[in-house]
Amino acid sequence: MALIVQKFGGSSVADIDRIRNVANRVAEYRHRGDQVVVVVSAMKGVTDNLIDMAKALMPVPNEREMDMLLSTGEQTTIALLAIALQSMDIPAASLTGAQAGIVTDGVHSKAKIRNITPKKIHALLDAGNVTIVAGFQGETSEGHITTLGRGGSDLTAIALASALKADLCQIYTDVDGVYTSDPRLVPTATKLDEISYDEMLELASLGAKVMQSRSVEFAKKFGVIFEVRSSLNDNPGTLVKEETQSMEDVVIRGVSLDKNQAKVTLVGVPDKPGMAARVFQQLADSAINVDMIVQNVSHGSNTPATDLSFTIDKPDVAKAQGVINDMRGDIGFGEALADEAIGKLSIVGVGMRSHSGIAAKVFEVLAAAGVNIQMISTSEIKISVVIGIDKAEEATRAVHDAFLS
Ligand code: ASP
Ligand code: MG
Repeated sequence: MALIVQKFGGSSVADIDRIRNVANRVAEYRHRGDQVVVVVSAMKGVTDNLIDMAKALMPVPNEREMDMLLSTGEQTTIALLAIALQSMDIPAASLTGAQAGIVTDGVHSKAKIRNITPKKIHALLDAGNVTIVAGFQGETSEGHITTLGRGGSDLTAIALASALKADLCQIYTDVDGVYTSDPRLVPTATKLDEISYDEMLELASLGAKVMQSRSVEFAKKFGVIFEVRSSLNDNPGTLVKEETQSMEDVVIRGVSLDKNQAKVTLVGVPDKPGMAARVFQQLADSAINVDMIVQNVSHGSNTPATDLSFTIDKPDVAKAQGVINDMRGDIGFGEALADEAIGKLSIVGVGMRSHSGIAAKVFEVLAAAGVNIQMISTSEIKISVVIGIDKAEEATRAVHDAFLS
């Protein structure tokens, strides 16, 4: 008898038919004699709707009340799934995050899990129930309902799998697993059998949004092996786990394109100590996330100056322009240029640690496709380039096919 944690996302419980479909799958495992803990999200679109309603009343609603409101989405689904299972004569009971013993800090809308005391879950399992837990929520030690950030049901599932020492953790979604690239963009993309936590984190933060990044970080920290698979078929999914020796034999795991970044260039920033610190501190103070940074070689001899380019999320451009205007006089740079017509192409693989020449090959492929590179950054397991948006999709396909097919 195995203890299994299964998580179903919003699209897997989007309507009553899908909920019945989930109940059937849970029933299969239950009939094998396994103990099953199910974590569910709100039905697709429900969380967004709740947010819209609150914002129609007030642009920035109170965060405690928002958590109270948003937690109802998952509560609807747990009860419906319990009823669906009971209609099939399968004993089932639902629990809110608080009832499941999930205690968090008090940071509303992005609370961190402090500890989990799964007493009620164990009691329900021992009494033969499928136990259904509301994802994305917990409560503070003072009893206030909190939520774990958008996509937080993934975190609930991973954290419960860890606390319960589950034998298996399955994350069901509407895709077959993690792919070498976005199949809508790259027709030759294939499903991966396995991927390491680090690769998954890079790909998730690069826009391959299969799972909430925090949940993958948690899984890495606590060594929770999990499988990402489809709730719509029986195909095996992608196993996410610690890196192994054989994983390094595969040089590149995936290629992704992020079209949600913009490039900002500050022209003629005085080339003296403390300038970058001031620019990026101001941006950080305004909660603007900076990703890639390139500083050019200094020009001019009397008062040397340099051009400083960096990328930020596209929705932050207007805010960044305000911050930059405010510091222009103080720091003394010339123009500030924002370019939204860019894409960030990234190539990820733990095999890069032990193979050389990957960057050269990427640049060669881009050159052959006539793509100009505007910025480059690398880490141990990733190479990213900023390129013009007009050729970004074509470049993604070319790089993918050069390494992965
Ligand atoms: N319902 C929440 C959201 O839409 C949590 C989740 O789906 O994981 O973000
Ligand atoms: Mg999700």
